[in-house]
Amino acid sequence: MDCVFCRVVKREIPSKILYEDDLVLAFEDIAPQSPIHILVIPKKHYSTILHMNENDKELIGHIFMVIKKIAKQKGFDEKGFRVVMNCNSHGGQTVFHIHFHILAGRHMHWPPG
Ligand code: AMP
Ligand code: ZN
Repeated sequence: MDCVFCRVVKREIPSKILYEDDLVLAFEDIAPQSPIHILVIPKKHYSTILHMNENDKELIGHIFMVIKKIAKQKGFDEKGFRVVMNCNSHGGQTVFHIHFHILAGRHMHWPPG
């Protein structure tokens, strides 16, 4: 399967990795939309959130704990940040290996574009 984020996990594509454990990888977005723009992905491939099921609840919970850890380590926890996951065409998903965007370092707008 030719998936860009699976290739990032396998180190076939270089990335700026900020966090890694057995289940999760976090790295800088290649085209940042804010001063801090980090992607957090499960190492296992899921094309969209729709491909996750009951057995994946623990993984999702773990990803949120990783997001919290990164926010505290990077020091943008107090000022705040945004966590986003896009799904399919209307959601604006372009890479079909699920990822949470962490956006920080500026005020975010609402409603989003
Ligand atoms: P989405 O539109 O939600 O699917 O987000 C995909 C994100 O992946 C975009 O913000 C891209 O800039 C980012 N991206 C694509 N390829 C890479 C890569 N090789 N390394 C880091 N980020 C990437
Ligand atoms: Zn993948």
